[in-house]
Amino acid sequence: MANQGTVPVWRDVGPTPPPVTAMEESKSLIVGGGPVGLTLALDLARRGHDVTILNRFDFVAAGSKAICFSKRTLDIWARLGVAAPVLEKGVVWNLGKVFRGADPEPVYQFDMLPVKDQRMPGFINLQQYHVEEILLAALDRYPNASVRWGHEVVGIEARTDGATVEVATAAGHYVIDTEWLIACDGSRSSVRTLLGLEFQGRVFEDNFLIADIRMEGERPSERWFWFDPPFNPGRSALLHKQPDHVWRLDFQLGWDIDKEDAIRPENVEPYVRGMLGPDVAFTPEWYSIYTFQCRRMASFVHRHVVFAGDSAHLVSPFGARGCNGGVADADNLGWKLDLILQGAAPAALLASYDHEAIVAADENILQSTRSTDFLTPKTRASQALRDAVLGLAGECSFARPFVNSGRLSTAVSYADSPLNTPDDPEDNWPQGIPPGSPALDAPLPNGWLLERLGGHFVLLTLGQLEGASPPEAIAHLDLQSMCGPDDLAVSRYGLLPGSAYLIRPDQYVAGRWRRPVPADIAGALARAKGAF
Ligand SMILES: Cc1cc2nc3c(=O)[nH]c(=O)nc-3n(C[C@H](O)[C@H](O)[C@H](O)COP(=O)(O)OP(=O)(O)OC[C@H]3O[C@@H](n4cnc5c(N)ncnc54)[C@H](O)[C@@H]3O)c2cc1C
Repeated sequence: MANQGTVPVWRDVGPTPPPVTAMEESKSLIVGGGPVGLTLALDLARRGHDVTILNRFDFVAAGSKAICFSKRTLDIWARLGVAAPVLEKGVVWNLGKVFRGADPEPVYQFDMLPVKDQRMPGFINLQQYHVEEILLAALDRYPNASVRWGHEVVGIEARTDGATVEVATAAGHYVIDTEWLIACDGSRSSVRTLLGLEFQGRVFEDNFLIADIRMEGERPSERWFWFDPPFNPGRSALLHKQPDHVWRLDFQLGWDIDKEDAIRPENVEPYVRGMLGPDVAFTPEWYSIYTFQCRRMASFVHRHVVFAGDSAHLVSPFGARGCNGGVADADNLGWKLDLILQGAAPAALLASYDHEAIVAADENILQSTRSTDFLTPKTRASQALRDAVLGLAGECSFARPFVNSGRLSTAVSYADSPLNTPDDPEDNWPQGIPPGSPALDAPLPNGWLLERLGGHFVLLTLGQLEGASPPEAIAHLDLQSMCGPDDLAVSRYGLLPGSAYLIRPDQYVAGRWRRPVPADIAGALARAKGAF
């Protein structure tokens, strides 16, 4: 692995020459070619928009970053046509085990795919650089998308109707005038700093050692977590399998350490051997120390500058909510920007992005803060509570759900989104998916429900609607012709003949009715497009 400064290189791409004109215009400009910027670019490119991504580096970075990608992220990438290569390369897992002390039996285990019969697994493990390569290869197929390598944003003048962006390259500076500027430029976002905006929240005083190592041999594709193991007494440790015989070992080290010393091979090796056995044969891939914060911006939309991913919010890695949360932002933003750029929705639709992405960020921050507090109790009382939970979990099932080694990322619902049309109080939905929640997958005779929903507004029905034919502007998926009343696609949505769901382009439920009239559907559609 090469190393440029402190950033290791996965693949050298080389700098993109600056444009011939020193002043360019664009409709939408993405800053940052990490997984979030690339996912958003792919969505916009597939919807037919010209997209430019500016990336500070002229290489794909390696090192130890995200590896765990959730089912929701896989569903999003499936909609964007990149789930197949991700699944092909990644390590699929559904089971997590939690151990305590030297006991080889887990005190607790959990299944990340409690609802079976869905196209995507609960989780996959795949190095972030592989994900970025897959997204880049997909983008490469769109002539309307381009990534500019070695182009760094160094100045911004934000206006009410756009932004003027100064870009530095090795061959000189130039300027882009853009209608929409999307900041996907990571935790140290230049866009955020240049606009004088800040994060709010907590910084945690703890250090974790990541040892990505290469080792042959078979072990289960499961997430293994230890509290107080003999090889890291009083602290925690984590083991994940990655492709290419690479394994991620993660050891809590505490606050008061010498970071350079901690990653010296002779100091890492005892941890590795302690976890995997004294005779284990391995080679180091990348050793690093990370600390973390649980913080977010007060607002993600600042006139025509929009923040997504780590530039907008940060969480602890316990729960794999950072990148998964950022991909969810891209998914939420893509269809809204598409409608706005087409002139089919007002710019005010982005207020719903601000609302929904903040609900998701707060949920991710809450969950990852709780996990962190359980891992490193801050008071004697919380230490006693944690030890009691761990002590009871082996014998008493009621205590197991309280074991918190990281509640892993799942899709977040937006119960109070301004885009939701609430249920009619007279409608009875003992089963089904309420407005503001993500659509659930189910098998169909020739494929999967989410696959059929695609990336546009869809009216999902069971048979003909009494007095209301679906509006021509939206797609219609009638399950009656392909499913019986007991099929999972029908029962998971609690569909009865004549009832309907309006599903958004990001596959969230906008509204549902037992017996809709045309005005119900038209009203819900208008609301979901920003008439709220
Ligand atoms: C050790 C570790 C383990 C993690 N594990 C997981 C996990 O398993 N699952 C998970 O979901 N998350 C995980 N995360 C978090 C995850 O890595 C981040 O959430 C994710 O990288 C965020 O993606 P992003 O695209 O928002 O930002 P980044 O990946 O940081 O990408 C930002 C991009 O912006 C570019 N850039 C920055 N400034 C400029 C500028 N001025 N001009 C142009 N370009 C610029 C950078 O070069 C970079 O390409 C982990 C993080 C760490 C540190």
